[in-house]
Amino acid sequence: MRGAFLALAVLLLAACVSAAAPVAESGKRIALTFDDIPRHPGAFFSEDERTERMITHLRETGVEQAAFFLNPGKIAERPGAEARIARYVAAGHVIANHTSTHPQLSDTDVAAYLANIDDAETWLKGREGYRAWFRFPFLDEGRSDKAKRDAIRAGLAERGLQNGYVTVDASDWFYEQAVTNAVRTGQEIDMDALRDLYVESHVQSAEFNDQLARKTLGRSPAHVMLLHETDLAALYLGDLIRALKAKGWTIISADEAFADPIAKLQPDVPSAQGTLIEALAWERGLPAPRWYARNNTALAQKEFDTRVLGKE
Ligand SMILES: [Zn+2]
Repeated sequence: MRGAFLALAVLLLAACVSAAAPVAESGKRIALTFDDIPRHPGAFFSEDERTERMITHLRETGVEQAAFFLNPGKIAERPGAEARIARYVAAGHVIANHTSTHPQLSDTDVAAYLANIDDAETWLKGREGYRAWFRFPFLDEGRSDKAKRDAIRAGLAERGLQNGYVTVDASDWFYEQAVTNAVRTGQEIDMDALRDLYVESHVQSAEFNDQLARKTLGRSPAHVMLLHETDLAALYLGDLIRALKAKGWTIISADEAFADPIAKLQPDVPSAQGTLIEALAWERGLPAPRWYARNNTALAQKEFDTRVLGKE
């Protein structure tokens, strides 16, 4: 009996050591975040199926806490949305503010934008899983309009809201749109190639942004990946998480990621693509390219057409 116990203890210890080894070597950490909940349906699943599949992928790969950035003003348009949000929370995930109706700051005046944030906050505050984080729709922080950018930053601080920035983006929304169009127009889709393109692009973007962060900050920060509530996530989120782990990444909670010291930094640059790493690199004078190449959607389209649709 004692022998069996000892053998078990040794096995457990060995499992812990081998699980911890890649972390110690690379130190790369990343949290997963999903925007635009409730999002319109994609080409393959009902909204309920999409949610259940995403939750299952997170659970099966041991991701204990992802963050979901909500547009509460869209809940009434999508039957069952409130119950789906409750499902994410019941599975251990957290919810935060992405404005009520997803306006773009560059096209919206300060008062209207802050009112839109407040509308979302009214719905969110006090709910289970709530976090006081705000993510800018389109990652638009006012671009070159410094007065507007500063006014919104002051407004967020007054409200006790922290910027829910991203550090890794690979335009998942673009591939979701491309595959939805392909299905609707009856084109033949190579699903394995679609999975590979989705997974590869997000892993590449994570690696690119981590290298840029190390050059900019001298260390690897806790990263935040931007994803959306998509059928691609419903299909391939598990593959993506496993691919990140295979590259030495540890998936961390959104709580841990947003506690990184970079959360306090507010770079003063007219942001373009919108990751915090890009803005910091720009502010500190690092040379281009400061953003992941396939966020150029012409390039992404070319990859999609060639690999997924088999076009020359
Ligand atoms: Zn959004």
